[in-house]
Amino acid sequence: MGIFEMMEKEGHEQLIFLHDRLSGLKAAVGIHDTTLGPALGGCRMWPYPTEEEMVQDVLRLSKGMTAKSAATGCDYGGGKAVIWGNPNTDKSEELFRAFGRFVEGLKGRFITGTDMGTNYEDFVWAAQESKYFVALPESHGGSGDSSLITAYGVTVGIKTALSFAGSDNLKGKGIAIQGVGKVGYHLIENLLAEGARIYASDISESKLDKIRKDFPEVTIVSPEEIYGLDVDVFSPCAMGGIINDETIKLIKAKIIAGAANNQLLEPRHGEILRQRGILYAPDFIVNAGGLIQVVDELSGFDRERAMRKTAGIRELLMRVFEISKDRDIPTNEAAAVLVEERIARLGALQRIYLSK
Ligand code: NAD
Repeated sequence: MGIFEMMEKEGHEQLIFLHDRLSGLKAAVGIHDTTLGPALGGCRMWPYPTEEEMVQDVLRLSKGMTAKSAATGCDYGGGKAVIWGNPNTDKSEELFRAFGRFVEGLKGRFITGTDMGTNYEDFVWAAQESKYFVALPESHGGSGDSSLITAYGVTVGIKTALSFAGSDNLKGKGIAIQGVGKVGYHLIENLLAEGARIYASDISESKLDKIRKDFPEVTIVSPEEIYGLDVDVFSPCAMGGIINDETIKLIKAKIIAGAANNQLLEPRHGEILRQRGILYAPDFIVNAGGLIQVVDELSGFDRERAMRKTAGIRELLMRVFEISKDRDIPTNEAAAVLVEERIARLGALQRIYLSK
């Protein structure tokens, strides 16, 4: 599919490619929809096998951010950046500063921070070139690591789904976590504290070693085994697209709730999950804690307020589950209903003229 075809299919406004020969920066910024405000979304660094996969990822991720902002009542649009490179070997000050200069050039149409493969220290460099970086360390005037609050929101999401299905008591519940990076680590911490049994996988041995050392009670399994475990909840906390025709057949958990963006490879996988009796908690609601933190930071950060708002993920998810039940539609479609309604209602406010 051509690039414009892809943009038209998903409704994107803008796709920008960034290249800096000296620092080796190769990146893309996707701006999906700015009806509600400037595009906001993190920056991922990943060694995509092909250019096409990088483009697909930035388009899918930026579209997800439009949904996340709209669903959680934030007046921002959807955007995301991806840097094409290996986060273990390709990071440098000049690379992130070059990225920062490009972001500054967008003059606030796009605001960004960390995502998979990047951490807030990387953006201390980028922020030397631009004021449009959020979730920097507190020592640099930011609201700090957003993965803590994201993990809190995922914990709320898991408990909400459990409670919709019966009881939200985590004691003795089996939870399989795919990916033990920034969010997965804190999620394990939260769930163990409430007595859950944790199984975890990662492709990085160093990440797994840290889990073995800090949480010896966690059972480590291979990346292939994680799908088919006989557990209550499967919690994807790594890459997107992992709920697909192949993996759906393996999943035994009756609930899917995790941090990863774009967990369904295609929207139709939401319907397949429904038919199989698996309650899917839409990712962009479950993982909205990080967005809620940075939006709060943009108007003067108050951690208590951001935590309270993140706790609201419970109410939002319950609404989605109810809509899904009442209308007999999959939960991903029910969540899309909330998104479309809010964009239509608030986008129309722009008809009221404001003098400059
Ligand atoms: P991270 O890079 O810190 O961790 C991701 C982990 O997943 C890494 O340890 C990586 O080795 C592992 N991984 C990659 N492929 C894997 C596979 N096939 N099987 C098992 N493990 C695999 O990233 P993060 O910040 O923890 O984010 C995790 C997910 O949550 C991403 O999809 C991200 O977009 C999403 N998310 C993060 C935040 C946040 O605040 N950090 C907010 C919202 C959504």
